Amino acid sequence: MERSRLVLLVVAVVVLVTALAVAVAIPVSRSKRRTISDLDKARRYMMEVPLIDTHNDLPGRLRMHENGKLQNVDLNSDISHRFNASHTDIPRLREGLVGGQFKDAIMHLLDTIDIIKRIVQMYPKTFDFVTTAQGIVDSHANGKIASLIGVEGGHAMDSSMAVLRMLYDLGVRYMTITHDCNTPWADNWQEITNPNLEHNGLTAYGKRVIHEMNRLGIMVDLSHTSTKTMTGILNVTKAPIIFSHSSAFALSNHYRNVPDDVLRMVSQNGGVVMTNFYTEYINLPPGNVSTDTREGTLEQIADHMDHIKEVCGWQCVGLGSDFNGGDTHPTGLEDVSKFPDLIAELIRRDWTETEVKGAIGNNLLRVFRDVEAIKTEMRSIPPDESMISRDSEGEASNPCRTYVYNPPSEAPPISTVTAPFTL
Ligand SMILES: [Zn+2]
Repeated sequence: MERSRLVLLVVAVVVLVTALAVAVAIPVSRSKRRTISDLDKARRYMMEVPLIDTHNDLPGRLRMHENGKLQNVDLNSDISHRFNASHTDIPRLREGLVGGQFKDAIMHLLDTIDIIKRIVQMYPKTFDFVTTAQGIVDSHANGKIASLIGVEGGHAMDSSMAVLRMLYDLGVRYMTITHDCNTPWADNWQEITNPNLEHNGLTAYGKRVIHEMNRLGIMVDLSHTSTKTMTGILNVTKAPIIFSHSSAFALSNHYRNVPDDVLRMVSQNGGVVMTNFYTEYINLPPGNVSTDTREGTLEQIADHMDHIKEVCGWQCVGLGSDFNGGDTHPTGLEDVSKFPDLIAELIRRDWTETEVKGAIGNNLLRVFRDVEAIKTEMRSIPPDESMISRDSEGEASNPCRTYVYNPPSEAPPISTVTAPFTL
């Protein structure tokens, strides 16, 4: 009894101190709201530097909800009522001053790549299909939105270096090493709490995959991987890495986010962390603004960007919205039209012009150019011909596969060939 009273007292003191801190903090933050001039400045910066979002799931939604029938959907119209509230269409991309997007190709890989390419063909005044850093800059200068392909999950290559090389030829410029299941050569983020990690991070073959990606010029994406996979990759990659859609673990304790020790390694590596906006990932303790993970605020996203900047450096910060992937996005940042408001918030927080422009797109462009330079440096190295045999235990029994790999008659339902669709 005595003991619990003591605990209660301690808690009460903590609450009181916190309440005092909040009471002081609120008037200060209210006096520093984003102003019209912050927004004007944000829009000017976004005219000068392409805003690059490395994770938009619109193609996957078009495949899932419309079976890829693009003629059923007019992207020039407001489609916010489609696909459980679509976050993306051309009017809102224009309002949001988006300069470049990596659209994600995940399940039914070739179907989804085909959708990305047909969107560009159907709307040539709006989109350019782009495969280089300079292509993004040129597209932006011509008033268009650069469209690039990222593949979310190393299972897409079915442990075949040949498939990886063909993905590059199709235009894929980043590959997420795992999605929500283990490949035969790398552990995914859900393994973090497993005391018996299947691969203890990255296997010897996994290291070869990273080397081949470096040689080809495909950006290595660490979102969705386990912490041991992250550090394993950072220890072997010759090129800077990306987190295409992950936020700061220190502010929101979800294993899809990046812990501080890894942020410090990314700083050394010269990579970039593209901040995810999905509330289920960003509104968890200790930095949560409510107990409902469907809620969140634009300011919270800026907090994550502040934290990444503080621990990793301003050169590490970028944007990976997860629009059209996650269903719940923060108040004030509900869809692609709201990017200028987030940029204005960074300006209000006294980020310098260089820092803001880095977050808008220059940091990702730097990493992309560095990856291209490493490709040039490695051009005399022959292609890696190693593979994990289809008959081997690791690959044959691996349930983490792309649907397209299996002949239709033998294909199990999609829910059994990939992990549940998490984002
Ligand atoms: Zn994802």
